[in-house]
Amino acid sequence: MKIEKKYQTALNDLICHLRNSRFLTDDRVETAFRNIPRHVFVPESELDCAYYNEPLPIMKNQTISQPGVVSRMTEWLDVKNGQNILEIGTGSGWQSAILSYLTDQGTVYSIERHPELVKFAQDNLKKLKIKNVHVILGDGSLGYSKAAPYDRIIVTAACTEIPLPLLEQLNENGLLLAPVGDESQSLILLQKTAKGIVEIKNQSSYVFVPLLGKFGKK
Ligand code: SAH
Repeated sequence: MKIEKKYQTALNDLICHLRNSRFLTDDRVETAFRNIPRHVFVPESELDCAYYNEPLPIMKNQTISQPGVVSRMTEWLDVKNGQNILEIGTGSGWQSAILSYLTDQGTVYSIERHPELVKFAQDNLKKLKIKNVHVILGDGSLGYSKAAPYDRIIVTAACTEIPLPLLEQLNENGLLLAPVGDESQSLILLQKTAKGIVEIKNQSSYVFVPLLGKFGKK
């Protein structure tokens, strides 16, 4: 996508900052950031801040995640072309669009509990003519069994513990990434193996809005 000059400069600065702080190290993720411009996913009132490395309000008291967190999570998830992906917490649809770019021939299912945000994300995805993301209204703490199993599952809201249905809906050798904790969360990357669930990475001090629902915060 061709980006207007004022955004292009801000995007270049953001990428430079994320590279220097090592929140962005993978060229494929940089290409995804360049092809899925964040300003398309922020409300008009926030356009001036679209390329700040900060979360921004969208609606319903929710936020589009901070770019550095999205780049790190996307890198950890290590998406390959053709994979079947589940995202919990669509919000603006920006993370969904980045995943869709990386899986390319594959599909992204993204679950959101607010109807207004389902519509917001769908409209944003349409602007970029993205066709391989299905945004579904529902309780993502239950996963989405209709399209399971998934090669990758990402939760973009804070879990008190990893919802069991998500682990069940993960393919063998699949990866699941979620922020887990109460006030502050650890990003936890798990792999499902023949021998059980193995923790691959764990890093503390992230803050997400809470995951609600049956297997979320009550
Ligand atoms: N990935 C988003 C940021 C999401 S913020 C982006 O790129 O913009 C977390 C989102 O999770 C919010 O939109 C919130 O409404 C949603 N959420 C919280 N609990 C949920 C649940 N149980 N099921 C589905 N969505 C949920």
